[in-house]
Amino acid sequence: MDLKQGIILKAVKYQENHKIITVLTPDGIDALLVRGALNQKSKTFAYAQELTKIEFGYVAKYEQTLKILTAGKIVDNYSQIKIDFSKLNDALLMIELTDQLGVHIEDSATFYHFCDDILRLINVGTQTDYYLVIFKLKALYLLGVGPVFTSCVSCGTRGRLVGFDFTAGGMKCDACHTTGDYFVPAELVAIAKFLYLTKLPDITPEVLTKLPDRKTVMEFIDRYYDYYLGYRSRAGKIINKMN
Ligand SMILES: [Zn+2]
Repeated sequence: MDLKQGIILKAVKYQENHKIITVLTPDGIDALLVRGALNQKSKTFAYAQELTKIEFGYVAKYEQTLKILTAGKIVDNYSQIKIDFSKLNDALLMIELTDQLGVHIEDSATFYHFCDDILRLINVGTQTDYYLVIFKLKALYLLGVGPVFTSCVSCGTRGRLVGFDFTAGGMKCDACHTTGDYFVPAELVAIAKFLYLTKLPDITPEVLTKLPDRKTVMEFIDRYYDYYLGYRSRAGKIINKMN
């Protein structure tokens, strides 16, 4: 049987011994029943842990019924993430967002490979603070609400851009901008634009060390998610209280 690849976003107890896992795959988000997964001695125990990359086989009796996992193999359990509080915090915020908003993404293959890349970089990297920022920014594009950085959001001109209007979701030119526009600080826009437009392999550790603390850019992006998608992280609120 051909195995499918996926990243486990969520695992919840089901009946006495089983779990239902939510898995991000190149074809979208799937739910699977994992029999015996609550039993530590069961071989399925390891395939049913949140934040694990697996390969799996499954059966589904009918199209509409829950799929049942029949074979599994761990590809990556992100061991470096799990022993580092900051990395774990960011990875959990990432999978929470994916679990909540991932269904709205049509290009599921691109999204899967993007998540896979970011998690790998957080796992093995040393300069990992900005990966959650990069993830959230680039995911806006796949969610259909990407900020417009390179042209005027009102008329489309690429010249004479004067500032980023938050409630318009993009830059405005000197002809379209009105006095009531709220402009996001230019330094912040420069960082967000750079991270949004630069390909992941080009955002090297050397580049990352030159960036300022992520706090203000993260606040900007969180406000963006709230305003354009009505999304606020539940886990994020708890983590913020703990800090
Ligand atoms: Zn314009």
